[in-house]
Parts: sequence; structure tokens; C-alpha cells
Amino acid sequence: MASAFVDKARITVRAGNGGNGAVSFHREKYVAAGGPDGGDGGRGGSIILQVDNNMSTLMDFRYKRKYVADNGADGQGKRKFGKDGQDLIIRVPRGTLVRDAESNEIIADMSTSEPFTLCRGGRGGWGNSHFATPTRQVPRFAKAGLPGESHEVVLELKLLADVGLIGFPNVGKSTLLSVVSKAQPKIANYHFTTLFPNLGVVWVDEGASFVMADIPGIIEGASEGAGLGHDFLRHIDRCRLLVHVVDASGSEGRDPTADFEAINQELARYSPDLAKRPQIVAANKTDILEDPALLEGLREKAGALGYPVMEISAAAHQNTRELVNLIAEKLAGLPPVAVYEPEYVPKQPVVDSSAPLDIRHEDGVWFVEGPWLQRLMGNINFADYESRMFFDKHLREAGVFAQLEELGIADGDTVVLYGFEFEYQR
Ligand code: GDP
Ligand code: MG
Repeated sequence: MASAFVDKARITVRAGNGGNGAVSFHREKYVAAGGPDGGDGGRGGSIILQVDNNMSTLMDFRYKRKYVADNGADGQGKRKFGKDGQDLIIRVPRGTLVRDAESNEIIADMSTSEPFTLCRGGRGGWGNSHFATPTRQVPRFAKAGLPGESHEVVLELKLLADVGLIGFPNVGKSTLLSVVSKAQPKIANYHFTTLFPNLGVVWVDEGASFVMADIPGIIEGASEGAGLGHDFLRHIDRCRLLVHVVDASGSEGRDPTADFEAINQELARYSPDLAKRPQIVAANKTDILEDPALLEGLREKAGALGYPVMEISAAAHQNTRELVNLIAEKLAGLPPVAVYEPEYVPKQPVVDSSAPLDIRHEDGVWFVEGPWLQRLMGNINFADYESRMFFDKHLREAGVFAQLEELGIADGDTVVLYGFEFEYQR
């Protein structure tokens, strides 16, 4: 069955480039030689991820796969700075994992409301007014902006819920959620009415609450990709407790014990870790239970695994409060919802630095420029020590310092690489 539900998406994001600095000279009547007044380029917009509580799927990313933030504007005369490019804010459902598409490593776990900068915009280039010194009064150069960072990432949704409802389709999971919370999942007497996970806040008492997730029913073979089940299992990866809903009435000719075991097998196949998650068994539809012997077998199997069994009727609201209290009691003794630690370490950019650079010496300042240097600098985070060390090493290995020495650079001279300036020390 085709599903409108999307819980995994691959997207490409690119931050904006920095604007170029301007070359301009002050012009005014009766003023003979105006000084340089070219403004700096604006910073490119960054790509920022932000949790949106109203989103519950990654559907928006199915058709739009490329996200590009605005470039910074170029600087202008009269020391006018170029406008910064606007940041592009990408909204994601809470619980979205961001992975590097190549290595699959986790870059960020969007489980808090803290915004996350995925790609930084490029710095704006300096205008010529930046380069005016007492001895250099007519700088006819300005710097180009640096390119913004880009990244190909995979978004993966792992809902943030304390409790996950599991069970075959049509056993009453959505009904249960609708009865114990304000969530209004679609309920109907046919399989796979739930195509989207639903989250509901369940109030216990005195302000205590927990979050319950209703996912589409798991079916046999789900862990091998049959039906819809497999995709949905990842949603409950974080759940602290599973409520295993079983149709105990034997309606549709089902055997509750066999169903219970089949679902547990699917869980184990998908993730041994998930199979070990504590469970409470909700034996549902007891209002239409005809053969009490059906319950006996289930009690035995669940008991052997140490799972409590509660007989309920979600539709008739029987024992649903008691179930909520039991869940709350169990949760109190369980660790909090898992948050994933970032694993991804930004790889240092691979830049072919064989092409010669343009080195100019003007009034005691050394200007180094070239396409590969510009590209390299767009990928260096100058706020980060490791990145700066990498940059230094790259320049050394590319022979930039050796060339400067050959051209006669002296200790204390200024070196300008686009928007980066430092004093030369051997
Ligand atoms: P889900 O697929 O597991 O989410 O199941 P639903 O909540 O959509 O319910 C499937 C069908 O079972 C619906 O027709 C419900 O009205 C019915 N149902 C749910 N709970 C009970 C119950 O406790 N007793 C009875 N008799 N029917 C129920
Ligand atoms: Mg349902």
C-alpha cells in the first residue's frame, strides 16, 4: 500500500555565499581626493533547523529536497555594508535525527527546541575601505565573499514518546489513545487506518503526564519490510515502555497468544534492544470476549516474560484509567527517553591545491588569493581550533608560506587571505 507517510528523507542544504566587498572612493564636490569608502559584503544566510511541534511527519521533504539560503549582498560605496542573507529556517518534527548522508553518522538529534545551525553562511568580503592605512591611501582592491557550507543529510523521524502502542492492525490501539488522551486518531474497523503516527499527552493526576504514541499496526514480516510495519518501528525506538495491545476477544478468528508472540518476534527481528523494552499487555475488547480460555494462554505467555496483563475495553472505557495508572507507575522506575549523541565529526574539506595562487605585495601587506583558497576557506570554521590548525597545515603543505618567504616576507608583515588577516611569524 502506498503511504502518504514519510519518516525518512534525504535532502541537500546549502548556506548562502558571502557578498563581495566593494571598491569605491569617496566623491564630493570641492574635495580633491576622497578616500576609499567601499563597504563589506554581507554574510550569507545559514541553514538552521528548528523543531515544530505541529509536524508529525517528514512529508514536506518528499517533494522539496533542495534548500538554499540567500546570499549576502555585495558591499557598496559610502561604506555601505551589503545586507546579510536571510537564514533559512527548516522546520522538522520533534525527534528528527539528522544524519550525514555519506557516513550515516548522527549530526544532531532534534529533540529539544534549541535551533541547530546545520550550515554556516559564507563571510562577506571586505570592501576597500577596510584596507586603507596611512601609507596605503588608494587601495584598489576588495575581497570576494566566501562560499556557504553545504551538506547532504538524511532526516529520520524517531518520535519522542514515553510509551509506544504496538500490536496488530485493528486491535484497538488508536481507540485506546483517543480514550486516554485528547488525541483524535482515525479509528475504523479496517486494517491500517492509522497511516501517521499520533502522539497524545496522557494526564495521570496532579499534573503528572506522559506522551503516548500510536503507530500504524505491525504485521508479520514487518521487520523484513513487508507492509507498512517496518518503517514505523523506528518511531518507537526511543519509547521507555511499550503497551502491547492484543485483541483478546478472538474476533476476526485471531488467537491472542499467537498474535502476541508474532509481534514480539517482529520486534526482536527489527531490534533486539527494542525487544527487551519493558511491556504492559493490554488485553483489549474484553467486552466481546466469548471464550475466557483465550485469555489464559495470553496471561501465561506474558507472565513468563514478566509483563503485567490488564484486561481492558478501550471502546467501553473499561479499565482504561487503571491502565493509565499502571503505565505511570512503571514509567516512574524507568530511565528517561533516549537522546542520541552526535557522532559526526565534520570532515576536513578535500581541496586540490595544486593550482598556483596569486600573491601580491602592497605597502607591507601580502594578499593571497585564488579559487582553491576561496573554496577551502568557505569550509573552515575559524572559531574552531582544530579547523584553524588544519587550515594552517594545508597552507604549509601547499607551499604558500614557502612562496611568501621566497618573495621576501618579513616577520611582522600582515597577510590577508580574503576576510582573514594575520601577522606573519616564521
Ligand atoms: P488499531 O488499528 O489498532 O488502531 O484499531 P482501532 O482503534 O482503529 O480499532 C479497530 C476497531 O476495533 C474499531 O472498529 C474499533 O471501534 C474497535 N474496537 C476498539 N476497541 C474496542 C473494544 O474495546 N471493544 C470492541 N468491541 N471493539 C473495539
Ligand atoms: Mg490505528
